[in-house]
Amino acid sequence: MTLLVASDPRFAEHDAGRGHPERPARLEAVERGIAEAGLEEALVRVAPRAATDDELARAHGRDLVAALDRFSAAGGGSIDADTAMGPRSMEAARLAAGAGLELVDRLRAGEGDAGFCAVRPPGHHATSQRSMGFCLLNNVAVVAAALADAGERVVIVDYDAHHGNGTEQIFYDDPRVLFASLHEWPLYPGTGALGDTGAGEGRGSTINVPLPARATGDVYRDAVADLIGPAAEAHGATWLLVSAGFDAHRADPLTGLGLTAADFADVTGDLLALAPPGRRLLFLEGGYDLDGLAHSTGAVLGRLLDVEHRPEAPTSGGPGADVVAAARSRHDQACA
Ligand SMILES: [Zn+2]
Repeated sequence: MTLLVASDPRFAEHDAGRGHPERPARLEAVERGIAEAGLEEALVRVAPRAATDDELARAHGRDLVAALDRFSAAGGGSIDADTAMGPRSMEAARLAAGAGLELVDRLRAGEGDAGFCAVRPPGHHATSQRSMGFCLLNNVAVVAAALADAGERVVIVDYDAHHGNGTEQIFYDDPRVLFASLHEWPLYPGTGALGDTGAGEGRGSTINVPLPARATGDVYRDAVADLIGPAAEAHGATWLLVSAGFDAHRADPLTGLGLTAADFADVTGDLLALAPPGRRLLFLEGGYDLDGLAHSTGAVLGRLLDVEHRPEAPTSGGPGADVVAAARSRHDQACA
């Protein structure tokens, strides 16, 4: 297996402010996880490129992108209570959005079996018109939109602990992109209800699994086996994109879910069945406990490389099975 990893020192230059949990040390933890799993020699590093205005316009209003460019160039500041930019933030954000585009090009050229974007700022909260929730541009949506425009059938699975409201909004009425989110409920940003299943031609192409705190890995795996996997097959998915946030880790300070590094590896392994080799791309989203982030990254990238690395045992027995059953029922109704 060949794994392409997009990384760049400029991602560390995005500064969201002193004491902010979405901090440059997160990428140092990602690198530590790769080193501790012994994966550096096995993977292929790729330099990202900056997404262009036209590429960003597939997912965002041009006025939003222009406003972010101006704000960052002027030195930046707060966008809302949790989201801020500095003078180097827009360069990092354009690279974070372009990293996935570069990896798609490489994967399409046959250079690898899967890709991982080790990027920040994260993206899944950014809507078409608004940056929020530590996210400036929606990295996964920019790539999904490019693939859909190229005729691909895309499935996005978002296992970050928070609902991927931005990604959902961008594709809510778009039947080309199946969006499935597993997230803690209630939790920021408050969206992602069971009954939100898409609209118009996109009816049935959004799946929300709002899980209670302390949900464990077995619930996630059941959701993939019983709901997300069959839905992706019915969708005719040709590409798998994963919003791989690791803040559902049980040690995360911002959330209450109960996963471990082995759970993230197992769920990611299950998701690989949704699209063929060379059509699988993961994006780092959240993850705020540095050890949890390091262990989870090592375990997941190990799984993508067929290297067994399980620094923590998998979990089971937590709540949430009823939510998976209810989400499946809502999805079936929306597709009927
Ligand atoms: Zn998150």
